[in-house]
Amino acid sequence: MRIKDIIHHLESMAPPMLQESYDNAGLITGKPGWTCSGVLVTLDTLPQTIDEAVQRGCNMVVSHHPIVFKGLKKITGAGYVEETIIRAIKQDVAIYAIHTNLDLVHRGVNARIAEKIGLQDTRILSPKPGQLLKLTVFVTTEHREALLQALFNAGAGNIGHYAECSFTLEGTGTFKAGADAQPFIGNKHERFAGTESRVEVILPIWKKKEVLHAMRTNHPYEEVAYYLHELANTHQEVGSGMIGMLPQPEQTIDFLQRLKSVFGTPVVKHTPAVQNQVRKIAVCGGAGQFLLNDAIASGADVYITSDIKYHEFFDAVGRLLLADIGHYESEQFTIDLLTEQISIKFPNFAVLKTGLSTNPVCYTT
Ligand SMILES: [Zn+2]
Repeated sequence: MRIKDIIHHLESMAPPMLQESYDNAGLITGKPGWTCSGVLVTLDTLPQTIDEAVQRGCNMVVSHHPIVFKGLKKITGAGYVEETIIRAIKQDVAIYAIHTNLDLVHRGVNARIAEKIGLQDTRILSPKPGQLLKLTVFVTTEHREALLQALFNAGAGNIGHYAECSFTLEGTGTFKAGADAQPFIGNKHERFAGTESRVEVILPIWKKKEVLHAMRTNHPYEEVAYYLHELANTHQEVGSGMIGMLPQPEQTIDFLQRLKSVFGTPVVKHTPAVQNQVRKIAVCGGAGQFLLNDAIASGADVYITSDIKYHEFFDAVGRLLLADIGHYESEQFTIDLLTEQISIKFPNFAVLKTGLSTNPVCYTT
């Protein structure tokens, strides 16, 4: 097992190209080709996390938050970021972060929060635009089925709960092969006209390389005639936040008390209750103020997130119940999610959850 095998698996779940521009998800220290002795999963990577990894026989830390966000010009141990990097490099520990790319996928950070609260019929609160392509490719009718199957196998043709979606139209294609061509059909220097299928499939932008490779290697023509379109459609399974329904309405005060116990926090900061009962719940792990208007527009009774500032609470008053449950608290189950994801794929491999709470925020009650 190598470091890059773990990374490849995690990135099949949360493609790195989905990460936000300010993020630094990916391998931060260590080499992809190292043999992996074990993985320690954490929300944050601190100097103590590196010590814990070494003590427990793990040379890879998989962290939700990247320890480094911007370029470091000096690494002298000033501050916890530099200290963590020094310790990791000295002790040959790889640090890998899976951050906003995991926030944005359908089965990521927010799905786990929704599950813990017991939400049903969940969907992405704010689907991300610009994630879909349409491939149109022309092929002889007898090669169409093999090509389609290869495109589906490579990740094309998925729309919501439906797989193997495509559209085909038959028509007449023409070409004239030049002197250097090796035409699959027809003669050089003569216009050939034959029946062709025009095949259309949809694909996520991060599958482009695999799908085009499958197209080229499963197509009989020397020059494959195809084109790719960027679609304005949103990908319903990629985006920020999540919204869902409680199985039945719950008293607002009971729901707030339940949040405290589910997320293990002694306090929930929230705006005044708008109604006595709640049912439609929006969530966003981590700092989620940017989604408040989406939560209001979706008709949510409650929006659960963290890192809300005093003046930002006013924007929610009278519109929905905005609940700040704490950043660490909101994302803590990401550790379980990542541990399970790695263990499912590599069942006999050491994947350990950190024993440290990295939450820097304390409450005196
Ligand atoms: Zn976070």
